[in-house]
Amino acid sequence: METSGRKIFIGGNWKSNGDRKFVKDHSSYLKSLNFDSSKCDVVVCPTFIHLESALNELNGSNILVSAQNVSMNDNGAFTGEISAKQLKDFNIHWTLIGHSERRQFFGDNEDVIGKKIKIALLNGLNIIACIGEKLEERNEGKTLEVCVNQMKTIVDSVGSNWDKVVIAYEPVWAIGTGKTATPEMAQEVHQQLRNWVKENVNEEVASKIRIIYGGSVTEGNCNTLIKEKDIDGFLVGGASLKSDFAKIIASYEQKL
Ligand code: PEP
Repeated sequence: METSGRKIFIGGNWKSNGDRKFVKDHSSYLKSLNFDSSKCDVVVCPTFIHLESALNELNGSNILVSAQNVSMNDNGAFTGEISAKQLKDFNIHWTLIGHSERRQFFGDNEDVIGKKIKIALLNGLNIIACIGEKLEERNEGKTLEVCVNQMKTIVDSVGSNWDKVVIAYEPVWAIGTGKTATPEMAQEVHQQLRNWVKENVNEEVASKIRIIYGGSVTEGNCNTLIKEKDIDGFLVGGASLKSDFAKIIASYEQKL
């Protein structure tokens, strides 16, 4: 198989799940897994309230910890918000931005997402920027148009910090539904996105940027999805809460 030189990235989005016992037990399970961290980044995203305990529990492992969201504002009078500075202060170096659930339920529009990307990068965070079309948009043949529109926000906000960015292509209709894009469907979009980056940013960024797939990834479908040329890993929701995550992490070996 042709190798891209891009390091595989496997993210586990725990969403608003888990209690202190889960964080302890699941972290200790994850810590027991063997993977080559020079070949694969593994990042888990607990809720804000569990970030510090996850970090402590995973101490000594190669598993990184990410926030699921970040404030678009700096520290200040923004009740209920967690700033990029505060994440850094807690030794959190990653955050998701623009997850479809944030877009759908919490008003994270392109303007908000652009501001979040800028402030996260300004404070030295790495970001997993999520994009993806809704079912009706796919059915209307608008998948690329929607994704490109979301990519424009990312491009306008990233500046030259591309080494701190992972793109997660997550078709909204596949998130938490059990309906996965086929490897061919996912590859088609990933390739189109990479071409778009080549034309609208530059060839180097296009060849280096990691574009990961999300949407009902399981231990059953990860090994075929990962073999696609432009799929550089996964963002996993439901299955990242279970022991299935081990097989999903191990899928990076398919690409060696
Ligand atoms: C996600 O939350 O980003 C996600 C892809 O969820 P799931 O794997 O459950 O579809």
